[in-house]
Amino acid sequence: MVQHRFLGNSGLKVSEITLGNWVTHGSQVDDEAAIATVHAALDAGITTFDTADVYANTKAEAVLGRALAGQRRESLEIFTKVFFPTGPKGPNDAGLSRKHIFESINGSLRRLGTDYIELYQAHRYDNETPLEETMQAFADVVRQGKALYIGVSEWTAEQLRDGHELARQLGFQLISNQPQYSMLWRVIEDRVIPMSEELGISQIVWSPMAQGVLSGKYLPGQPLPTGSRANDTKNGAAELIQGFLRDDVLEAVQRLRPIAEEAGLTMPQLAIAWVLQNPNVASALVGASRPEQLAETVKASGVTLDSGTLVAIDTALGGAVYADPEATYTASPARRPS
Ligand code: NDP
Repeated sequence: MVQHRFLGNSGLKVSEITLGNWVTHGSQVDDEAAIATVHAALDAGITTFDTADVYANTKAEAVLGRALAGQRRESLEIFTKVFFPTGPKGPNDAGLSRKHIFESINGSLRRLGTDYIELYQAHRYDNETPLEETMQAFADVVRQGKALYIGVSEWTAEQLRDGHELARQLGFQLISNQPQYSMLWRVIEDRVIPMSEELGISQIVWSPMAQGVLSGKYLPGQPLPTGSRANDTKNGAAELIQGFLRDDVLEAVQRLRPIAEEAGLTMPQLAIAWVLQNPNVASALVGASRPEQLAETVKASGVTLDSGTLVAIDTALGGAVYADPEATYTASPARRPS
């Protein structure tokens, strides 16, 4: 069964593998497959589920709500997010203003079919709204009992420090950051992880399999495998995965195959086990387009990789690893227009 870890310095435990539904539910896969995948996750001991208001323009939250209906609420940890534009994308349908945060959480709770969520996350930093306004709104959401804890996603070390300090002053807990992290994308290692360790913040890491690339199924110089995310043009994911679909990266990934075999793991399991070796990572946030993928991935929980395996991975990947600490994603203008 999947093991659990504490989220930041809070008392909340999350499964060390979380199922996320970006680009899958309400979009790439039909509802039947989505619900079967959520049930496969529950059967494997996954208790933590991640979504966002923006996924499939709110449809992903509704699918997750239907998939979890009838489950014992106390046995689940449900996470969602606010920031990116939803609905008709009007001037107040995005960002981290008090108005949008209040309206967004009410919509998310309705779609998810729950009175509260465990974690409400700022999907990106908002340079246009004063941080004080955002954190006060989050404090009120927590006081209203609509979210138990607050997290963020893709914030820099400095943003985490400032947000954490305001949360402390306002009397609520900012306990997590959700960045991209995988064997191929190590941007958080230099600054975000040391700052988070100091503040008692955990990482919930997205695309730990580099969107499927680290499964080894994309072969250099070969056509894209049918039914894979890179072939799905409906939701923008095919564009995002392009950065990994270079022959030098795909060749480096193939060099991981004997390392995985030697460790007694499949390639997807090696990718997930690798992110879980970092104690600041509370959970690997995986996606799955089919229940069988998840049945394979969850076996990475509890695996320890020895130092020889970790060195062999670094040698195999070489220059294919991207680790620029400046590469935190941003989606808001550099500053508020004067
Ligand atoms: P992964 O790196 O785990 O990629 C998942 C995809 O890889 C699957 O949908 C599937 O795609 C493929 N795959 C999974 N298992 C296997 C397997 N065993 N063999 C072969 N292929 C496999 O994570 P995601 O990119 O899906 O991201 C996970 C979650 O992270 C999202 O759902 C979301 O919750 C969160 N996220 C957060 C972001 C943020 O800004 N905060 C941004 C992006 C994601 P297929 O079968 O279609 O090829």
